Amino acid sequence: MEFYKLSALEIAEGVKNGKWTASEVLSAHLERIKKYDGNINSVVTLSEESAQREAEEIDRMSADGRAQRPLAGVPFLVKDNFCTEGIRTTCCSKMLSDWIPDYDATAVRRMKAAGAVLMGKTNMDEFAMGSTTESSIFGPTLNPRDFDRVPGGSSGGSAAAVAAGFCPIALGSDTGGSVRQPSAFCGVQGMKPSYGQISRYGIVAYASSLDQVGPITRNIGDMAAAMEVLAGPDSNDTTCDAYERPSFSEASLAGIEGKKIAVLTGYDTDSMDRPLIEAIEKSADYCRSAGAEIIEAQLPITMKHAVACYYMVALGDASSKLACYDGMRYGHHAEGRNLAEMYKKSRNQGFGKEVRKRILIGTCILTRGYYENYYVPATKVRQMIADEYAELFKKVDALICPISPALPYKKGLVEEDPVRIYLGDAFSSIANLAGLPSISLNVGFTEKGLPANVQLMGPRFGDAGLLALARSIENKAGCPSIAEIEKKGECRI
Ligand code: GLN
Repeated sequence: MEFYKLSALEIAEGVKNGKWTASEVLSAHLERIKKYDGNINSVVTLSEESAQREAEEIDRMSADGRAQRPLAGVPFLVKDNFCTEGIRTTCCSKMLSDWIPDYDATAVRRMKAAGAVLMGKTNMDEFAMGSTTESSIFGPTLNPRDFDRVPGGSSGGSAAAVAAGFCPIALGSDTGGSVRQPSAFCGVQGMKPSYGQISRYGIVAYASSLDQVGPITRNIGDMAAAMEVLAGPDSNDTTCDAYERPSFSEASLAGIEGKKIAVLTGYDTDSMDRPLIEAIEKSADYCRSAGAEIIEAQLPITMKHAVACYYMVALGDASSKLACYDGMRYGHHAEGRNLAEMYKKSRNQGFGKEVRKRILIGTCILTRGYYENYYVPATKVRQMIADEYAELFKKVDALICPISPALPYKKGLVEEDPVRIYLGDAFSSIANLAGLPSISLNVGFTEKGLPANVQLMGPRFGDAGLLALARSIENKAGCPSIAEIEKKGECRI
């Protein structure tokens, strides 16, 4: 049985009705990781023993009929900025390289309670700052569909692992696109839910007002199932709203007949990679044939200011959030002759180049004078962007637009042209600024086998409707394939 080809729901179904065991499914996935991850470096810590224990527990429960959990026996991986009890959580930084938390993030706890089996941790840009997964202390992750390209970032390890068939569900965090852009680069489905949908408790913060947990899967059925498990109020995160969540799985089957869907226009399409424009046109056609009405919409304020606004807010937040890593309260400790020298050495040694750069800029933005001229205006522009979307969603049910202006970047571009990479967040960061749900959906591949994803956005807490839209398009476009990493390159393990 080629377990790695199954969806999460198929795996759980088989475990529940006794067709196979969670232990069998787990060992097949572990074997695949060990055999092929040497090619792409997506997993930084494998927790084989605890995973085996968890799988055996599920199997014991199945024997007496208690395993009727939605994700029974589904192996999953999480980004290395999710706290995992007894498993190191490094943020792929020297700063936290030996930290072992004694509790699970709420998202991890909920997955385990639903019967899913945690296999380990995935690679990421240091402290989730980046778009290429090249700044990790564990070395870069490669794109499983083309080893000369990056998998996107910062949750590049999670997206690459799902694309490679290492697990059907992986979790990432998304502050400005970090679940959805790597999903686009690896050709899988990724979702950033509405702000407040899933608890952030136990996720190492980058920028708390933008961060959200998001699932990465190979199809929308699994995505809806994961959302149903992950979403819910949490007394440990007061920004996680206490409203009654719908059944995302059921709602995702609703179809889109009679819905009004906008396609974004009025941005610079000439600087975009052509197949990504075609992917949007194709998605609009699919919607029409599923009975939806398509109109065009423009968002001038958003298009002009989103990236600048995102980097002001994110870096300001990051500078204050990361202040706790001072070598005393948290993180890597270096000796110094006095307190100031100890702080300086600990932070200089513990943080990598990009993180230091962002903390410096963020601290500058929050300094008196700059604060009034940069940070405060950015928070006002952020509200204007949210208002622009609120107006749009009075008229339409959803919006289709690009998720990334470019196909997967070649390795090393971040050194050559960092500004191009920052500008690449123009479309993805909007959903974080406005707190909206957004899905990065694969609708096909280019002739060279590179994935073409589009972004679907909906109103705040319209996550269920967005899943229905994604499913309707996926029904026409087909689910993305598993990357053929076994055929390409030398197997290094
Ligand atoms: N690429 C964006 C950044 O570098 C987004 C990162 C994220 O979502 N964590 O900030």
